[in-house]
Amino acid sequence: MKVTIQEKHVDITKEVDVLIVGGGPAGIGASVAAARSGSSVMLLEKRGFLGGNITGSYVENCNHFFFGTDFKADGIYAEIETKYFMKYGRSHDIRINSPIRFSSEYLKVFLDEFLTSEGVEIKFHSFVNDVIVENNTIQCVIIQSKKGPLAIKAKVVIDCTGDGDVAFSAGVPFEQGRDLDGLCQPGTLNFRIAGVNVKKLTDGGDKLKEIGKKFKEDYRAGKTGLNCKRQDLPFGRLTAGGQVSYINYPCSYGIDPTDVDDLTKGEMECRQYIMEFYEYAKTHFEGFENIELASIATEIGFRDSRRIKGLYRLTKEDIEADTKFEDVIAVYPKFYDMLAPDAFMDGDGKMEGLGYKGHIFVPVEGDKSYRIPFRSLIPVNIDNLLVAGRCISADHVAESTIRGISACMLTGQAAGGAASIACKDKVAPKEINIKELQGFLITQGVNLPKEI
Ligand SMILES: Cc1cc2nc3c(=O)[nH]c(=O)nc-3n(C[C@H](O)[C@H](O)[C@H](O)COP(=O)(O)OP(=O)(O)OC[C@H]3O[C@@H](n4cnc5c(N)ncnc54)[C@H](O)[C@@H]3O)c2cc1C
Repeated sequence: MKVTIQEKHVDITKEVDVLIVGGGPAGIGASVAAARSGSSVMLLEKRGFLGGNITGSYVENCNHFFFGTDFKADGIYAEIETKYFMKYGRSHDIRINSPIRFSSEYLKVFLDEFLTSEGVEIKFHSFVNDVIVENNTIQCVIIQSKKGPLAIKAKVVIDCTGDGDVAFSAGVPFEQGRDLDGLCQPGTLNFRIAGVNVKKLTDGGDKLKEIGKKFKEDYRAGKTGLNCKRQDLPFGRLTAGGQVSYINYPCSYGIDPTDVDDLTKGEMECRQYIMEFYEYAKTHFEGFENIELASIATEIGFRDSRRIKGLYRLTKEDIEADTKFEDVIAVYPKFYDMLAPDAFMDGDGKMEGLGYKGHIFVPVEGDKSYRIPFRSLIPVNIDNLLVAGRCISADHVAESTIRGISACMLTGQAAGGAASIACKDKVAPKEINIKELQGFLITQGVNLPKEI
C-alpha cells in the first residue's frame, strides 16, 4: 500500500550563503570556517545542543588515537581543545597518565558560545530529511519543525549529518557498510555511573585500566555470562566526586543506522546490556560496590553509516600508500579502528582477510600519515552540495580512520572554506581555485604538505 504526500507551499524563512546541516565535529569545523571566510552561515541541528557524538554519545575521548604518539591535532579542533582547556581544565579528570578528555556537558556550553561568537546562526531542533532540487542544485533545505516544514535557501549546502541525510534526500548515490553484506560497525550506547570508590580506583595506579583488561580476559574465557558481545571496556573520566563519565560498552550489532526499527531495537537492546553490566560491575569490580547508573547517552551512537559517492573514493590502498593528491585538504595519522560489524570477536585486530575477521585495530605507527582529497567531499551529482565528516566518499576500511573526530572537523573545515570561496567567486564548489582553499586552511592552522 502507498499514500501520496500532499504538496505544501512553504515560505522561505531565510536565505544564507552557506547552510550546514548537523552540528557535530564536521558541522562545527564547517560553520566556523565558512563564517571566518566572510559568508553568512546557518547551522541546523536536530538536537538541542552541538557536538554530535562527542556530546550526544559521550565520546569525550576524541584524540586517544594520538595519545603517546608525535601527532598533534591541527586546525579548528586544536583551537577548540586549547580554548576549552584554558576555560575548563582537565574536566575533573583525576585518572593518571590519561589523554585529555572533554566533559560533554561543559563542551555543550563552550560550543554555544564559540560558534555564536564566530557569527554562526544556530537553529536547534531542526531535523532535515527533505530538499528541493532543480537542475542538479539544491534550491531549498526543508526543516521538519514542530510548526511544520520550514524552508531555508542557501548558495551552498554542507551535509554534516554523519549519515548523509541531506545527500540522500537530494538523490546522491551512496554505499553503506562493508562490501560483503552491507553491515556497519555496531551502534553503541555509552552511559555514566556515579558512586565509585575513588580511593580504591586510584590507589597504586589506574585501576580502571586494570579492570578493563581483566574484563576482556574473563569475557574471552567465557566467565562473565553477559549477553553483549563487546569485550573491550574503555572507561572515561574519573572524577573526585566518584563519577565515571562514560563506559563505552553496550553494542548492538547488525543494525542499520538509518532504519527506525533497527534504531529502536538497538536502543532497547543496549539499555538491557547496560542493566546487565551494571549488576555485574557491582559484584565483580572492586570499587564499584555502591554505584548508581547516572545517565545514558542521548541516543545510540554510530561510527559509520552512509558514505556518499563522490568525485574521488578514498581507499584503504590510498591510505596505505599515502597517495599524493593535488587537492589535498587534510593530512591525518594512519590508523584503523573498526569494531567487528558482525560481532565476530576472535580476530587479532589485524587487517588480514580484509579486516573482516573481527575488530580491526591498527594503531598510529611512527610518523605514518595519509591525505584526504577535496574531491571526496564533492557528491557526483549535485552542484551546490558538499559533504564532510564520517560520510564522505571512502571505502569501508578507509572510513574507519577518517571517522576520527579531529579528521571529521578537518573535512568540515575544508568544506566550509570551499563553500565560502564558491559563494564569493560565484562558481560550484568543484570549480573553486584549490590553491586558494589550501592557502585559507593553512592560515587556519591546518597542516598541509609542504610541497603543495
Ligand atoms: C561509541 C563511539 C565511540 C567513538 N570513539 C571515538 C574515539 O574515541 N575517537 C574518535 O575520534 N572517534 C570516535 N568515534 C567516532 C566519532 O564519534 C564519529 O566518527 C564522529 O563524531 C563523526 O563526526 P560527524 O560530525 O561526521 O558526525 P556526528 O558526530 O554523528 O554528528 C552529526 C550531527 O548531525 C546531527 N544530525 C544528524 N542527522 C541530522 C538531520 N537529518 N538533521 C539535522 N541534524 C542532524 C546529529 O544530531 C549530530 O549532532 C566514536 C563513535 C562512537 C559512536
